[in-house]
Amino acid sequence: MEHQQQLVWQQWQVPVHYRRSSRARHLRITIGQQAVRVSMPPGVSLQEAQAFVQRKEAWIGQHWSRNQHQAPPRLSGLTDGMTVMLWAEPVSLVWQPATEARVILARHQQQLHAWVPAAWSDAVAQQALQTALKRYLSQTLLDALHGWLPRYSQPYALHPTGMRVRLMRSRWGSCGVRGTLNFNRHLVHAPPAVAEYVLVHELAHLRHRNHGPRFWQLVAEMDPLYGEHRHWLRSHGQGLGLKIGDLLL
Ligand SMILES: [Zn+2]
Repeated sequence: MEHQQQLVWQQWQVPVHYRRSSRARHLRITIGQQAVRVSMPPGVSLQEAQAFVQRKEAWIGQHWSRNQHQAPPRLSGLTDGMTVMLWAEPVSLVWQPATEARVILARHQQQLHAWVPAAWSDAVAQQALQTALKRYLSQTLLDALHGWLPRYSQPYALHPTGMRVRLMRSRWGSCGVRGTLNFNRHLVHAPPAVAEYVLVHELAHLRHRNHGPRFWQLVAEMDPLYGEHRHWLRSHGQGLGLKIGDLLL
């Protein structure tokens, strides 16, 4: 059963879909790109769910409006001054004319400087910058993962045989049969603690290749706030990398 309602918050008209879920244990609000979904566990009435939504109105409105700003604007390319989210912080991409025949990216506080050869045509520059940016984002994430790894590998005796970053369509991470961990490049747009949770999650799979209670217990030991981090991915995940990710597939 599904019930729909329109929530009005400031200039926004927010479609809210209420859905029964036998698996939900609590009322859960998920802010999507098209609608807000409310999962109702058994025993919770529609009226209770609506009252809950009412109380959370401002919170929903804020997240919704933020998500709408992040909606894919269908950019034609990586433009000078555009915003790239790095570790959940907006960073401006600033083009600089380079004399060397290659693209160099370097971060200076809230700016990401892209040194692009001035002599190149727009098309060539665009292609090279996209390639360089993908590499930069992957490397930034990989460096962070390697930085966090010792916090868990030694104390918990969890040693991956390797770590790789690539673009994944539907997962944040995976654990290969030979102990190689893969991570979604889009995690570099999330808060660092969220990316670190994904590392913890995949590390825990080295011991438990399932999502059973012992798996979650190990995750909780390594990341006591894992519930929040999972929730963050659920509610913000689909917006991650949209702006830039659309261009960098
Ligand atoms: Zn898993």
